[in-house]
Amino acid sequence: MALEASCLPLPQSCSPVTEQSAARDSDALTSRFWEAAVERRLLVQQCADCGHYQFYPRPVCLACFSLNVRWVTAAGTGTVYSMTTVWIKVVAELEPPYTVAIVELDEGPRLTSNLISHDPRIGQRVRVAWREREGMPPLPIFEAVQ
Ligand SMILES: [Zn+2]
Repeated sequence: MALEASCLPLPQSCSPVTEQSAARDSDALTSRFWEAAVERRLLVQQCADCGHYQFYPRPVCLACFSLNVRWVTAAGTGTVYSMTTVWIKVVAELEPPYTVAIVELDEGPRLTSNLISHDPRIGQRVRVAWREREGMPPLPIFEAVQ
């Protein structure tokens, strides 16, 4: 019997990587991600049973509902799936204008992040970079590949 995704008990930590989520204390589901971030490694989850990649972290595979999900290091490369430029000050850490992008990693999962590019556009090839933060793990952002 297949479980429906809407019935799965997902902890509050299951949210995209943002300044707000990073500011929260990590938990058993996210601590490996942040430990790797300190080493400038971008982790995603991969199902050991069917090979499906996913991000943000979840306790089960979204493709086959296996509990056998593990962390693997992503290549850190991908493509801009969607983007927008923010022109007003929303958060203290970011001075506008800046670009918020949904990046589709080469492994498949999509991350909402910031994009560093002189010519930001959908379809642009990107690679992970890291924004340093005082007293917190670095945050994965993306920069255009020339
Ligand atoms: Zn699976």
